[in-house]
Amino acid sequence: MTRRTTTAAAVAGLLLVSLPSTAQAAEGRADLGRQTLPANDGWAASGPGTTGGSAADDAHVFTVDSRAGLVAALGGNNATNKTNAIPKIIYVDGDIDGFEADDGTLLECADLADPAYSLDAFLTAYAPATWGYVNPSGALESARARSVTRQTAQTQINIGPNTTIVGRPGATVSGLTLMVDGASNTIIRNLTITDARDCFPAWSPTDGALGNWNSNYDLISVRRSENVWVDHNTFSDGDNLDTDQPIHSGRPYQVHDGALDITHTSSLVTASWNRFTEHDKTMLIGSSNTVGPDVGRLKVTIHNNLFDGSIQRLPRVRFGQVDVYNNYYRSSGETFDYAWGVGVQSAIYAENNYFRLYDDLRPDAIIHDWGGTAITEIGTVTRTGNRAEVATSALDAYNATHDPDLGSDAGWTPVLRAGPVLPATDVPGVVGSYAGAGRI
Ligand code: CA
Ligand code: CA
Repeated sequence: MTRRTTTAAAVAGLLLVSLPSTAQAAEGRADLGRQTLPANDGWAASGPGTTGGSAADDAHVFTVDSRAGLVAALGGNNATNKTNAIPKIIYVDGDIDGFEADDGTLLECADLADPAYSLDAFLTAYAPATWGYVNPSGALESARARSVTRQTAQTQINIGPNTTIVGRPGATVSGLTLMVDGASNTIIRNLTITDARDCFPAWSPTDGALGNWNSNYDLISVRRSENVWVDHNTFSDGDNLDTDQPIHSGRPYQVHDGALDITHTSSLVTASWNRFTEHDKTMLIGSSNTVGPDVGRLKVTIHNNLFDGSIQRLPRVRFGQVDVYNNYYRSSGETFDYAWGVGVQSAIYAENNYFRLYDDLRPDAIIHDWGGTAITEIGTVTRTGNRAEVATSALDAYNATHDPDLGSDAGWTPVLRAGPVLPATDVPGVVGSYAGAGRI
């Protein structure tokens, strides 16, 4: 293992490569809205690259501080904005809440519920003791589905192609989903994104041995889109933690879904320098095992992100060639499930990642086999408890305690990398300092 300490020069080099041109660097603090993805910076640099709304004319540069303002900047109608391909730069200033009505009042879940829905009635109607472990159907399930439709119209913010959304210092968006669906060439940067809560979770009685509550809303969803760059954001559940939710029908009432889910034939996505904190289902790449339109898609680069207290899907991958390098995982045995989900026809290439493992968490927990066959892993370093950091093969550890074994060659080698790949031992210092909103 090559070891060296983090140097100021190494950090400065990383910062320089995050800028698109020496001209902008010379300006000092560059205008994030006009920046584009640097050449070769991951899969999103493929093909035409990722420029977002950087070419916007002056009439399509907006600063917004409300849900209504955000919807207006995206084209004026949340129901049709996903087709608005005009280049646009949207600066978020202050705090935006997805539950804000157009008059600025904050809606409650009860305001979005269909008149025929109540949770109490739902729980009574579909209690496993009387209804059994079969999918809900009938009037109350239909009323729940209508309620979801109403919430989606309110809290799912639909983004069109050729869009850049960047946070001004301290900007937050909460209680909403940034939906990048059919919206190629999109950039989202420097935002704190929290608590995309579902007011009407679905009861899925055949999910797992005892059923599960499942939520509909991610913090960012990327679907049917190419050339998407998600950079320097902070993702969390805010002050609405899963651990504070009630138990219903014997299972935790899950009001959150993904932090950054990339599904439905999306491809060419770069997720860099983000901070994911204390979230459960963090990053799903591919949502179906069906061997169909996802084959050859779902190509994602995940580099220099911090996964802090994250529980699972860091990421979970189906079909895609996914480059996972220089990420920093801080995980506790009390909450951690797994990091790398090796799913159907997945091809994860994991290089120089660092795991800080607490509470006797062992490296054989890093990988979970969801029906895959192989993962390429190079240069992982772990530090467990207060012991010294050591070069580790999470794959060898996994194979020693699980059968069948996973192979060690995912079948491809990444070439799209803009900056130097750091030794894993440098990752905690650099990623810990520079990942997340407000740290560009
Ligand atoms: Ca999702
Ligand atoms: Ca084995």
